[in-house]
Amino acid sequence: MIRRFRKKPVEIEAMQWPNYDDDSYDARCQRAAIHRWVWGNGGKTWVVSRKHEDPDVHVVVETRAGNMRLDTGDWIIRDAAGEFYPCKPDIFEQTYGPIECWTCGRYDAWRDAFESNPIQRLTTRPGGWYSADDREICPECIARLLGRTN
Ligand SMILES: [Zn+2]
Repeated sequence: MIRRFRKKPVEIEAMQWPNYDDDSYDARCQRAAIHRWVWGNGGKTWVVSRKHEDPDVHVVVETRAGNMRLDTGDWIIRDAAGEFYPCKPDIFEQTYGPIECWTCGRYDAWRDAFESNPIQRLTTRPGGWYSADDREICPECIARLLGRTN
């Protein structure tokens, strides 16, 4: 019997690596945040500088498939299994879109969801977005829909 199937949506976390020559506060914070994020979740990243005879400063990410290169504009992905790996920006854009609230339109941010939901504050468990087949609703909108306020 032939049955029809649809690929299930996959949720990932991702951060974009800024140009290493960008010395702005935001870029420096982003680079530091990426290393903290990876090392804080059992991964490994390190910077390969020009001193090591490489034309570009880049970051190496340790993955299951070996060490991979993270260049300017590349995304670093943490998949559902907690593994880190790099992704080229064009592939990333073709494959992923931000999780957006169907009701209010805002993007999901782990911290947002965490701060807005008192149950998550109590349990210290992230999440709280409601996922339907093809849409997402943020914790505040769920609370509003249920007639409650946080
Ligand atoms: Zn919302």
